[in-house]
Amino acid sequence: MPSPKKLLFTPGPLTTSDTVKAAMLRDAGSRDSDFLAIVRSIRGRLLAIGGAAPGGDYECVLMQGSGTFAIESVISSAIPRDGRLLVAVNGAYGRRIAQMARIHGIEVETLDVPENRKVTAGDVAARLAASRFTHAALIHCETTTGIVNPIEEIGRAVAGAGAGFIVDAMSSFGAIPVSLEAVHADFLVSSANKCIEGVPGFGFILARREALLAAKGGARTLSLDLHAQWAGLEADGQFRFTPPTHVLLAFHQALDELEAEGGVAGRAARYRRNYEMLARGMEALGFEPYLAPEDRGYIITTYRYPAGNFRFEEFYSRLSRLGFIIYPGKLSQEPCFRIGTIGRLDVGDIQALLDAIGNVMGQIGKPSLNGPPEASRPV
Ligand SMILES: *Cc1c(COP(=O)(O)O)cnc(C)c1O
Repeated sequence: MPSPKKLLFTPGPLTTSDTVKAAMLRDAGSRDSDFLAIVRSIRGRLLAIGGAAPGGDYECVLMQGSGTFAIESVISSAIPRDGRLLVAVNGAYGRRIAQMARIHGIEVETLDVPENRKVTAGDVAARLAASRFTHAALIHCETTTGIVNPIEEIGRAVAGAGAGFIVDAMSSFGAIPVSLEAVHADFLVSSANKCIEGVPGFGFILARREALLAAKGGARTLSLDLHAQWAGLEADGQFRFTPPTHVLLAFHQALDELEAEGGVAGRAARYRRNYEMLARGMEALGFEPYLAPEDRGYIITTYRYPAGNFRFEEFYSRLSRLGFIIYPGKLSQEPCFRIGTIGRLDVGDIQALLDAIGNVMGQIGKPSLNGPPEASRPV
């Protein structure tokens, strides 16, 4: 018996359309010309989403694995032995990049910013001026909280300091307009199962060609060698090792659907409507967002636990039984949970989630954010 269908209000994998899932109902030969044409088309279309002209300064590399593998491919390939990396950290994904660098023996420092604050260009410029760094890394939308860091200003500061700029745009690419050139990105990374609304299985790197060529021979692993992966794709259109064929077929369909929706602008508009409905509805239910209004993006929203003896596990599992998957928090300090407004969801789905949250809170006790904790009814 198949399990009942659930909607994912998460940071990924996300809810996907039936047509994206249906695109996987055939087998493709990894060296077959039809499949290679799909891979070629995907690479070209991803560059176009980044605003890069065909034959311009940027290249697209696809890398098997989840998004983290694609980031690790950049970190472990592009930073030379005598390189030094500055990672701006205002959440768990920034911390993860620093951890990666340490594992590969790369000299790394972090610029630590509180999780409820944006990284600023001034912060980054000051650190880059204070000591020598060859590269700086930044998370665009820190999915830990949903905060969106100002990549263009920071990119200008990094370029001005003569360092290479690595951007984790995992949860923003396809949903927040970005121009690789305006960001001064040397490497910008995202994955199949975020805002392009494909299924999980590969990540992609949009790289300035010069920076990519400089990574030749610099890899610290075999399978995540960024330059070798690109050189393979360029030479015969093929992946070096087994590609996630079905995932690529689904992704190709997902790109068609992104285009049909009006590209990034159309998708951004839908996600924003989702977010605005969620924000209004959650406020009406008495939930308090973690971030200040001006710092919230439309990708994912973090809510504090309501006062009283709120038990997230119970809240979560009751919603799950009703067909709604939300997401736990990932903050180092505060007890929070998260609700994503990305993926194949519309305002009708958000309203259904809000209704379910209202019902579940009625069953397990109302949030009382200001007054004394209310006793929740036994369940
Ligand atoms: C999802 C995400 C990643 C990658 O996570 P995986 O689990 O490896 O796919 C990296 N950075 C950010 C900001 C993300 O949202």
